[in-house]
Parts: sequence; structure tokens; C-alpha cells
Amino acid sequence: MALNNSSIYDFVIVGAGPAGLTASIVAAREGFKVVVIEKGEQAGPKPRGEGMGHYAIVDDILGKDFLSSIGFKSNGDRVWHSPGNLQITTTFREYPHYFFEWREFIDRFVEKTKEVGVEILLKSEVIEPIEKNGICIGLKYKDESSNINEIYGKAVLDCSGYAGVIGRYYGVPYDEEINCPIIKCLVSEANIEIEKTPGLQFFFIGNGDLDYSPNFPPSVAYIFPLENKRLEVGLMLRMAQVPQMKTVIVPDDKEILRVWDNLKKNYPGFSEFFKAAKIDYEEVTVLPNARMVKNFVPRPGIVLIGDSAGFVNPFGSSGLYYSMEMSQFWVKNIAKKMKEKEDIWSTENIEEFKTAFENYDVYTEVKGLYNLIGAFEYKIFNRLRTAEKINKKWEYISNLLSQA
Ligand SMILES: Cc1cc2nc3c(=O)[nH]c(=O)nc-3n(C[C@H](O)[C@H](O)[C@H](O)COP(=O)(O)OP(=O)(O)OC[C@H]3O[C@@H](n4cnc5c(N)ncnc54)[C@H](O)[C@@H]3O)c2cc1C
Repeated sequence: MALNNSSIYDFVIVGAGPAGLTASIVAAREGFKVVVIEKGEQAGPKPRGEGMGHYAIVDDILGKDFLSSIGFKSNGDRVWHSPGNLQITTTFREYPHYFFEWREFIDRFVEKTKEVGVEILLKSEVIEPIEKNGICIGLKYKDESSNINEIYGKAVLDCSGYAGVIGRYYGVPYDEEINCPIIKCLVSEANIEIEKTPGLQFFFIGNGDLDYSPNFPPSVAYIFPLENKRLEVGLMLRMAQVPQMKTVIVPDDKEILRVWDNLKKNYPGFSEFFKAAKIDYEEVTVLPNARMVKNFVPRPGIVLIGDSAGFVNPFGSSGLYYSMEMSQFWVKNIAKKMKEKEDIWSTENIEEFKTAFENYDVYTEVKGLYNLIGAFEYKIFNRLRTAEKINKKWEYISNLLSQA
């Protein structure tokens, strides 16, 4: 195993998704030497979230009004369907939310990284951290020729998404407690008149409701209308309650796709959208939204950020905005200590970083959402569990949904 190519950076960042790219842009704008290591052939190799609110940070990172220039504005309606589509509740959220194409979104990040001199190493898979005296000082990664390289940094940020490559090394229980399977699917020629039904649609499926898969976890199937009969659709498996539910068997990807095929064919209300529709993209992937990681700094020198920290809004499974905010927060705080030439990773500094983050309003928002969804899913998916009982309590559930 050859070791070569040693280099020292201020920030070494794992993963060129929205979190890693935001972190790299913020750090480089502060004047630091930054490298991003990405295992894919391009930044953000696979499409993930393609809808987000127009928050100030999006303008700061990607340019003023870039989001609206590539997106279609959603109308703010959320349409919630009870199991079996027996009852429907519509809630409304007034804020500018746009849908767009992942590739256009990510390409803009890359353009911005070039403007500020960020280095991105593609086809380079991070394998493990390098430690010295209990501090993470760098990473080992495998390049496209399968050579193992070492790279060093004053701060290492794990922005590797649900893979959580470094968090996993330090024992974060992604598979057991954090990650939830989700189907990402893009459809054209769907059976929908978007002008008449522009709202986002969510279909609740209780555990025990599907006779062809009675032990399937509680799930939510969703429809996001885009334009010209194009939809983003999918299935979120809600795993937070599953460890406490004896009636659930955790499905493998094959079973998830079998259930998905059935839902598209015959789930009341949901299957209507698929008549004559063309599937353009479909895969089972993972979203870390059962709970947040407990410790964002598993070792001095390394911070888990974005999806690898479970830092998403678990209600909408939305993490784009939150990963960008978390990246900016941590980079700015670490950068301040770097500029002061401090021992960045002293125990006092780590405590200061953590306390500041826990007092940061975006963190308290995410924490609040996890608490809310925890109580919500316990009552609905665990205690009530099946279509019959969930439908009986739908009025009460509708009230809770209006707070989401
Ligand atoms: C189906 C689906 C729908 C979603 N819908 C929405 C939505 O509508 N709105 C919203 O806000 N959010 C949505 N999300 C969530 C959103 O996409 C994520 O929260 C966001 O992408 C998190 O960014 P990230 O940079 O932390 O992780 P990621 O985007 O996952 O990026 C991680 C990067 O790390 C790379 N990587 C992984 N392992 C390694 C390694 N060992 N070495 C090097 N590189 C590595 C990956 O290739 C990837 O490029 C959705 C997610 C999914 C899956």
C-alpha cells in the first residue's frame, strides 16, 4: 500500500454535497486553504433534495436570486392523506419555496468554489481519519488508481452525508438509530394538472396496512408537483419508532422496491398520479432523519456536519437549508479561532463551539422539530399504528399537522 501525496490544508472536507461545498466556500472566502474530497466522478454525484426555501444563506452562498432563477415556486399547500386516502387535510405555509434540478443547483456551488480557489479532489474515497495524540489531524483516502493517500488539515469536516464515513469510524450508530430508507423517483407525463393541484401531497401508511407486506414500517409516500406533468415522488420509511415496534420487520431494498411498485399500482389516491406516467429516475437511498447525532465533535479536530450529523428537518425530510446553515456556523466559529492562532481544539474551545451551536436558533429549530416529530410518530405510528385507528383520530392528527 503506497502512501504518497501528503499535503497540509486549513480545512479538509469530506464530501462535495451541499454541506461540504458550502463549508468550502465559506472557509475559502475567509482566506483559508481548503480541499474537498469527493468519492464520485463529479460533485454531488447522485440527485438528492430538489426543493428548498429561499433563505438569506442561499443568496449569500450561491448569489442573489439564483434559486428563483432555476426554480419553480411552490404554492405553500401541504395536502395530507390519511391511510387508505379516507380523509384529507390541507395546511398552508406561507414562504417562498422552490423546486429545481439537482445538477443545476450543485453546478452553481462548484462555480462558486472555483471563484474562491477551493480544490476539489474527485474519484477520491475517504477511508479513515488520521489521529495524533487523540486529535484528528487528517484523512486517508483512496484515489482512482486505488493508491492510498494521506492529507492533513487543521480542521476536518465530515460532510459525507448518510455514509457518515468518519462519524461511523467513531461509533455513530447510523444504521441502528439515524438513517431511514427513502425512495427517490422522478416522473414525467404524470396524471396531474399541476395548475389545479399544485400542493405537496403526503400519504400516510400505517404499519400493518399493506396486506402484501404486513410488517412494513410506517411510511409516508409523497408527491411534489414540478412542471409540465413532471413530479418528484417517493416513499419515506419512518424508522424512529421501529426499534420499539415488535410488529415491524426492517425491509431490505428489494422488499422496499416491491412495496413501492405496489403503491404505484394500487395505493388509494397515490396510484392515480402514475397512470401513463414515465419513470425517469428511481432508486432506494437513505436519509438520516430518525434522530440527530448526539456529539458533533466525536474527536478534537473533526466535526460532523449536514446529513452526517442528522441535521435535517425530519418532517419534510429537508436538509439542504439546514446543512448549509450548519456548515457556515461551524466554519465561521473554527475560522475565528484559527485567525486568533489559538489551540483550536482545546477542551475549552470545543465546549465553546458546542455551547454556541446549541444556542444557535437553527439548531434549536431542528431540535424542536425532532422533539415534535418524536411525540407525533410515537402517538400515530406506534400507539395508533394501523389505518383503522389512525383514521379514527384524524381530526386530532390534523391539528398536529397544522403545527408541522
Ligand atoms: C429522496 C430525497 C429527497 C430529499 N428531498 C429534499 C427536499 O426536498 N428538500 C431538502 O431540503 N432536502 C431534501 N433532501 C435532503 C437533502 O438532499 C440532504 O439533507 C442534503 O443533500 C444534505 O447535504 P450533505 O452535503 O450533508 O450530504 P449529501 O448531499 O449526501 O452529500 C454527501 C457527499 O459526500 C460524498 N461521500 C460520501 N462518502 C464519501 C467518502 N467516503 N469519501 C468521499 N466522499 C464521500 C457523497 O458522494 C456526496 O457527494 C432529500 C434527500 C433525499 C435522499
